[in-house]
Amino acid sequence: MPKGRGTRRTTTLMGFTNIREIPGPEEIIAMAPLGPELKRIKAVRDQELKDIVEGKNSKFIVIVGPCSAHEEDSVCDYVRRLAGLNEKVKDKLFVIPRIYTNKPRTTGEGYMGMLHQPNPDEEANMLDGILSIRRMHVRAITESGLTAADEMLYTDNLVYCEDMLSYIAVGARSVEDQQHRLAASGISMPVGMKNPTSGDFNVLYNSIQAVQASHSFIYQGFEVRTSGNKLAHAVLRGSVNKHGASIPNYHYEDLSLAVDMYRKRGLENPLVLVDVSHANSGKLFYEQPRIAKEIIHSRKYSEDIRSMVRGLMIESYIEEGNQKVGEHVYGKSITDACLGWEDTQSLLLYIAENV
Ligand code: PEP
Ligand code: MN
Repeated sequence: MPKGRGTRRTTTLMGFTNIREIPGPEEIIAMAPLGPELKRIKAVRDQELKDIVEGKNSKFIVIVGPCSAHEEDSVCDYVRRLAGLNEKVKDKLFVIPRIYTNKPRTTGEGYMGMLHQPNPDEEANMLDGILSIRRMHVRAITESGLTAADEMLYTDNLVYCEDMLSYIAVGARSVEDQQHRLAASGISMPVGMKNPTSGDFNVLYNSIQAVQASHSFIYQGFEVRTSGNKLAHAVLRGSVNKHGASIPNYHYEDLSLAVDMYRKRGLENPLVLVDVSHANSGKLFYEQPRIAKEIIHSRKYSEDIRSMVRGLMIESYIEEGNQKVGEHVYGKSITDACLGWEDTQSLLLYIAENV
């Protein structure tokens, strides 16, 4: 990962106004560092997850947590609960909290995540945002021993948080973007590539092929070459058709197609995770347990599916559902509706008993 930001210190484009300067990664990381003990915890978890992705460890991956992490206290409370639950399921599951701090917006409007608004009621302040994200992650790992997942929505911001994360997702709206693919090819942890909102599996597999290869490009003011990321894999999240209807892709036939296409492409470390929220649930949070159970059933029915479909992504928080920004219910999502804590607990216990 390059250390500097390059030499361009000012924005010269006419339509841009400089608001504030953002220090480089070394300076930012020094303000909220990951201490040696947390680095050790992360190294152990990263190795276990790499083994799972490479098929050397048969644990089932569960990425679970709120759609967006907008409130440090309730996020850390949630992750502590997850750590307690993890003690009961850790022989079967590899649990990764979702701590998502930048949100893609379909029309560009709405809450854009902690990066933009460390306080959702206030104006954007991205320097505060980056520091708040780091403090929240460091606290979450300290209190739970669990390292988290986040989405790489802005490729340039990777340098500010990559050292704390164990899993990175490239979202449905970014997966066709060259810069995201090239940046992901230089990440040394598992990167989940979502199917695009159109649902096209070819686009999904093209993206994995691109990310698994080495590339040269301009990043942070340097010409760089990446290693290629052999841990890049597929995440099915359903699609939306031209009428705006959600089209799921978690059914048996979808999983079979995903497995067949993976095999035909000859990609490394074949792994399919299924996001049981978003267009798979039609954003009906309470459908997630039913969908998860169907996937587990499909795995029992087909050895092929079982060998590749080895994880789930779930949107969950302390309180079920969601609320508007400004309503201030503790532990309730201000973006996509989430499964509540009690149902999350039952679901993870079910998954651990049935995979
Ligand atoms: C999310 O994980 O909250 C998300 C926005 O996912 P997707 O990119 O699949 O829409
Ligand atoms: Mn979401």
